[in-house]
Amino acid sequence: MNFPDYFADAESTFDQADFIIFGAPYDKTSSFRIGARNAPKEIRQASWNFETYNVQTGVDLRDIKFHDYGDLCIENDKPEKMIEKLYAFSKQVIEKNKFPIAVGGEHSITPGIVKAFTSDIAVLSLDAHIDYRNKYENEKFNHACVIRRISDHIDIKSIAVLGIRSAEKEEFEEANKNGLFYIDSYKISNEGIDKSLGMVKDYFGQKRIYLTLDIDVIDPAYAPGTSTPEPFGLHPIDIIKTIDFFASQLVGFDIVEVCPEYDKGQTSILAAKIIRHLIQSAWSNKN
Ligand code: MN
Ligand code: MN
Repeated sequence: MNFPDYFADAESTFDQADFIIFGAPYDKTSSFRIGARNAPKEIRQASWNFETYNVQTGVDLRDIKFHDYGDLCIENDKPEKMIEKLYAFSKQVIEKNKFPIAVGGEHSITPGIVKAFTSDIAVLSLDAHIDYRNKYENEKFNHACVIRRISDHIDIKSIAVLGIRSAEKEEFEEANKNGLFYIDSYKISNEGIDKSLGMVKDYFGQKRIYLTLDIDVIDPAYAPGTSTPEPFGLHPIDIIKTIDFFASQLVGFDIVEVCPEYDKGQTSILAAKIIRHLIQSAWSNKN
């Protein structure tokens, strides 16, 4: 069964909306499984599964003005060109005081969006991978280099990565040497997510935060439809807790690396629910 081709309940126009959802169907640099370009379409379809009312927050999505712009035309672009388009579009959204929500696509889209913000923001990345290679397969804008490219624009002291459990030895050593703040998934499991979020809060202070969610941070038991699955990940509830914890500081969000053809739709369902929760949480903290 096919539902409308826009995100459920995104009934506002671009000009009316406080939140702008847009698809970034890009997977040209993926190293293991290809197919993240199909995620925006699948996540939109999955979004029609849900009620507008959130029993946890008491917020009804029908009270929130949000718009689905559709997909950016980037599928066949070289990485540099794709980044430029993400930057230009995000800039328009931010300049109009709207909250961008990008639906990838692979993680390589994120640096383009972050660049559109002033460099005094903080970036919180939830990811199984540290993504700190300077180049991968001879490509600077590969999805394995996301945090490194973000650190070209944002001070490394304003970046934190939660949930990592995979890195190349040299990449990891370099991240340590340059002072990248991260908490691995084993430590989060031992200490609990609340304590871990408190550590990030101490580190970031009151800075505005851009949140990037690489879906592979979640354990593949819950989110198997992803490009580079990595066991021993976070629980889906940890993501909701992270969003709620920082809701009043959030200025933008993306969800990346969903790869729909590798599961039975459960990862797209989870992604759609997370987007809906994020809108409700960010909105209720600003209203
Ligand atoms: Mn990543
Ligand atoms: Mn990852």
